[in-house]
Amino acid sequence: AQQPPHPPSRQELGNAGWLLLHKIATTFEDDPSPAEQARLRRFLDDWSYLYPCSECAGHFQALLRENPPDTSSRLAFMAWLCQAHNTVNKRLGKELFPCDVEALEGRWGGCGCAEKSAG
Ligand code: FAD
Repeated sequence: AQQPPHPPSRQELGNAGWLLLHKIATTFEDDPSPAEQARLRRFLDDWSYLYPCSECAGHFQALLRENPPDTSSRLAFMAWLCQAHNTVNKRLGKELFPCDVEALEGRWGGCGCAEKSAG
């Protein structure tokens, strides 16, 4: 039977949020220009204020301050984001994710480039 519509839970919001962030990471430029790097850092900074769970947003602001994002390349940002997500996982007592490229591409990559150019 279909579930009745309901406002997203913190968990659903988190799943959707991480999905978008990790997809952005796997499709980021291999060799980003300074402007592209600045755009990504601005996006993360804005995200950390607009994320609609104030406790999570506050934690993410602190995380960005203490551990500024590495936007120097697609692989560097994928690794940074994986560590950031693991910091949240640790705080919540969740399992840590392996941050090697194979695991990250397997979970979040795939046809990212094709999707981007098709869009
Ligand atoms: P999620 O943590 O949502 O992960 C989704 C999927 O991502 C997993 O199933 C796994 O396949 C994959 N994954 C897991 N870890 C990694 C990793 N390190 N790298 C790559 N992929 C990975 N909740 C709070 O209660 N307090 C907070 O302070 C908080 N801060 C948050 C900050 C941000 C920026 C976001 C996006 C979410 C935050 N959340 C917070 C929500 C929380 O992180 C989870 O999304 C939520 O608890 C649901 O967890 P989950 O087990 O379903 O998997």
